[in-house]
Order: sequence, then structure tokens, then C-alpha cells
Amino acid sequence: MTQSTFARWRGCGAIELTKRQEMILQIVKDEGPITGEQIAEKLNLTRATLRPDLAILTMAGFLDARPRVGYFYVGKTANQLFVEHVRKLKVKDYKSRPVVVTEELSVYDAICTMFLEDVGTLFVVKDGGRLAGVVSRKDLLKIALGKQDLQAIPVSVVMTRMPNIITCSQEDALYEAASKLMRNQVDALPVVRPMEDGEGLEVVGRITKTTITKAFVELGQESVL
Ligand code: ADP
Repeated sequence: MTQSTFARWRGCGAIELTKRQEMILQIVKDEGPITGEQIAEKLNLTRATLRPDLAILTMAGFLDARPRVGYFYVGKTANQLFVEHVRKLKVKDYKSRPVVVTEELSVYDAICTMFLEDVGTLFVVKDGGRLAGVVSRKDLLKIALGKQDLQAIPVSVVMTRMPNIITCSQEDALYEAASKLMRNQVDALPVVRPMEDGEGLEVVGRITKTTITKAFVELGQESVL
């Protein structure tokens, strides 16, 4: 059977096709449009026996049916269906709580915050929540290598600043956020929305490489019924 065994199940992951469903798919691919009656005949089964299989294949997006025409192959490979499913995942459904600090916080306290909050990236805000910058582990390591007094240096000195921050928004595709992480070689993106006064961005969440790993594991778990 050339058809791969995974199909989307109405956006809820994927299902493994049975041998019989694989055979139906092949028949429709080779001979469609073809009626349910004709498929049943070829398999030496009754139309009633095939009904659930045909329903599954239609709902999963492999087949379509038209009255008086019969079943025809929609032409999507299992891979295409999987890609469609992945690209529909949204940032808003996967984002985690952002850890936000103010510009005046000392480098010393920023390091403590990273340990306490168990994160690798802090988002820095000013003026009541406006995104000002991002501080990563290595930003802090770099400054800690010197002989300066870490309690006297504010994080604003070591952060990467706006407007150079790569962000994403709640409605973005998770896939797009993952691509940004890769393209820009960073570990985290703030999820943002415009501030109410229209000036600058408010941080409402966080997407990290861990978020993407979690989503990947979930996709793997949901793929077999
Ligand atoms: P680390 O430096 O600990 O490996 P990153 O790879 O995330 O962590 O950070 C690399 C550099 O990119 C740091 O200087 C950091 O300030 C900056 N950075 C991190 N996240 C972003 C972001 N979303 N947008 C812009 N710059 C970022």
C-alpha cells in the first residue's frame, strides 16, 4: 500500500487507517469517481459494512463524495494533512506566563529572578508595562565575568532593546513563532499586543524553545487513536 497510514481527524490529531480503509483509498485513487456500491463489490463486502469506513475517510479529508457521482480522492497526502494541522496551531493556545522585570532591576536581582522563576529569558518593561528589552542568560553571564558590582548595574545596560526585539502575537501560528526562534537564533519570544494608549507593546505571554518541544511531544502523542 503506497498510502501512508496517518490521516487528520478533524483537527484533533491523526488516526491510523485500517487495512480495509487503505484498500478503499487505493481503489478510489485508481478508479474514482466510484460509487460505494462499486467499491463494496470490488472488496466482496456489502455497502453497509463499508459505510463507517467511507465516513471516516471522508471526514479525515482523504475522500469526498458527490451525489450520483460517487467517491473521489481529494488528493491530499497524509503528510499534507499533518502539515495543515501543525500550521493551524496558535500561539495563544501554547503561550506560557511571561516573567517580566523593570529596567531599574539590578543585574544581580535579574540573575536571582531567573533562578527563582526557572526561566532563561526575562522581558524588561518600562512605563507601566511597555516592552523595553530582553535579557538572556548569556547577557547576564557576560556582565558577570567582569569585576563590576552587579548590584549597581541595571538590566537596561545589558538587555537587547526595542525596536530590535523579535515578538509574536496571540493569533500568530505557533509554526511561525517557531520559525522566528530558529531564524533569529533566540530562545524566547515575547507574545505581545499593542498597549491601550497605542504606544508600544504590552507583554502577555512567552513562547520558548521548550514550548515548541512540548507541542511536538503532544503532536506525537495524539497521532494514533
Ligand atoms: P542565550 O544568550 O542565553 O543563549 P538567546 O539565544 O535567547 O539566549 O539570546 C541571544 C541574544 O539575543 C541575547 O543577547 C539576547 O538578549 C537576545 N535575544 C533573546 N531573545 C530575543 C528576542 N526575542 N528578540 C531579540 N533579541 C533577543
